[in-house]
Amino acid sequence: MKVLAYFYFSFYDKNLKRKVDAVLKRNGIHYEPTVRIGKNEHIGITITRITYELKIDYEPLFIERLVNDLRFVVDPDLDFGFRFDFSEKEYEQSPLYELIAIGTNQRLYLENKGESYQTIRFCDTCGKQTIEQTKPLLINTAIVDKRNIVFVDQELVISQKMAELFDSWGLTGYRLEHVHHYGSAKNKKTAYQIVPTNILPPQNLPDSYLNDPVVNKLKCPTCRTGGHLFYPHHYNKTVLEKIQDFNFAHEYRARGPYEVRRVLLISSNVRNRLIENGLANDEWEYRPVIIT
Ligand SMILES: [Zn+2]
Repeated sequence: MKVLAYFYFSFYDKNLKRKVDAVLKRNGIHYEPTVRIGKNEHIGITITRITYELKIDYEPLFIERLVNDLRFVVDPDLDFGFRFDFSEKEYEQSPLYELIAIGTNQRLYLENKGESYQTIRFCDTCGKQTIEQTKPLLINTAIVDKRNIVFVDQELVISQKMAELFDSWGLTGYRLEHVHHYGSAKNKKTAYQIVPTNILPPQNLPDSYLNDPVVNKLKCPTCRTGGHLFYPHHYNKTVLEKIQDFNFAHEYRARGPYEVRRVLLISSNVRNRLIENGLANDEWEYRPVIIT
């Protein structure tokens, strides 16, 4: 896996361009920003917009220096992310995948209509909370029946047909919870929430990642969650004995400033079966795990 640090920022001040270019040059980066000249019709002046889109090999200490050097132009914490280039082998042979998205159709992402969560304090330092569901999800189940698989507030919900398929495939590591119907009773269908029951052992992240000064600055010093810079999950081979088809990572991950949750990881078996049966298309996005 190759990790790239991705910076994106733009501005209108030509003097800033000189300063940014000097910083980049000093750091051995040769880059020409995109310069677009446009006319603002309302006030009749010409505007020059200068855009930088940098993809830089990730080396934690180098990135820290660059972030500090560029701090005068933008808040790099907000404009800096990771991009992961997995080899085809890493991608195809991963035993587990984080399910990032199941397509671009908005109807695949529903909101629970019931007020049925309770919060539990996760960390006294940063105040983040875990959110526990206390009642069945409440959604329009007709949509689930039509789409087969949807996300409801990050929870995977499936139709009756999918539940039967999952059962016939002998999938493991989950239980089904009935979902309640929201909307006209005549449209009501059977739908289930997938509740993963298998929690994986702790990850084995490389020390260079654990000690990254920029990433750590965004984290709470106590619970070590926070920020937007996440690595793919790293495990050693012993995880292979613990994998089921639906799994939660052991660690909690921040979701925004107030919440933490465990990440769902599906097995390659689930991914392959869904693809083979035409139930997951090219719009599904997965992130493999790294086995060391
Ligand atoms: Zn905390």
